[in-house]
Amino acid sequence: MKKLLSIVVPMYNEEKMVDLFLKTLTTDLKDLNYDLEIIAVNDGSKDQTLNLLIKAQEIYPQLVIVNLSRNFGHEGAIAAGLSVTKGDIIVPLDADLQDPPSLIPTLIEKYEEGYEVINAKRKSRAGESAFKKGTANLFYKVIGKFSNKVKVPNNVGHFRLISRRVLDEVIKLNDYVRVFRAEVPYVGFLTTTIEFERPLRKEGKTHYNVKMMTDLAIDSIVSTSIEPLKLMTKFTIIYGLIYLLSVISLIILFGVDKGLDLTLITNTHYLIWLIAEIMGLFFLIICFFFALIAEYLGRTFLEAQKRPFFIIDKIIKK
Ligand code: UDP
Ligand code: MG
Repeated sequence: MKKLLSIVVPMYNEEKMVDLFLKTLTTDLKDLNYDLEIIAVNDGSKDQTLNLLIKAQEIYPQLVIVNLSRNFGHEGAIAAGLSVTKGDIIVPLDADLQDPPSLIPTLIEKYEEGYEVINAKRKSRAGESAFKKGTANLFYKVIGKFSNKVKVPNNVGHFRLISRRVLDEVIKLNDYVRVFRAEVPYVGFLTTTIEFERPLRKEGKTHYNVKMMTDLAIDSIVSTSIEPLKLMTKFTIIYGLIYLLSVISLIILFGVDKGLDLTLITNTHYLIWLIAEIMGLFFLIICFFFALIAEYLGRTFLEAQKRPFFIIDKIIKK
């Protein structure tokens, strides 16, 4: 029996893309030795997307339409599509052909070599503004800094191939905020990456604006790690050390000054310094309590996320 490939494609106001997408996809995949199911998720489109999809079902019997009750956004649409897939391998991609379906056979080759996650990394970003490229780079740098053990790969969006059991583990993560590109690396398993040149959107226009990109960046960081919260603790420790040093210098300087009767600094200045130290002490106390709250908050977050503490790949016995 042939294995099943599930394609998941979210669509929001993509009436210009529906036919072109399905035609390109099925042409690019016609020589594959896999059965195909295409899960198209209509994410509350206000145009003809749904009607066109229903019509297209006559030509493409492998097309399954998941119609959402309203617009839930890219991540929501992808998650909905993934939840109904039956495939042995799953590939989510965008409807605008920016994730070229012609790459899927290469992804499958890697799968057949034994990889369970094959990331499709954008080597170039054709037609994107310097601003978008710059913010994207910054985004991956910041994520890289904050994610400790789990590395979110650079310039990899939704487009990738995952095996059934990787998807099952992703679905089991019951985070409320879903960021697919950060969930897959958490789940792990044998992973590789191939690179591709990202083409321009074929028709229509991007749905992402600066605010949405910022939201995605924050969601990715906050859902992946509690490192940002731990910054408070790190700051408190460093500040505490500096504070301690300044108190010691005050005592030594004052001692030497009075002991040797040098009058390096006037008494008024010592008094001002002392007052500054007392204020600094209060600041340290406040920082300490903030750090304490941040530490507990971080643990509460992890407990609420209830992610598995480990995932077993296989058990090897003799
Ligand atoms: N999309 C969606 N819901 C939304 C916004 C976008 O399902 O609220 C879909 C959209 O139809 C496309 C994919 O997500 O298939 C990527 O969107 P877009 O091409 O606008 O993003 P960009 O490539 O500019 O990052
Ligand atoms: Mg796009």
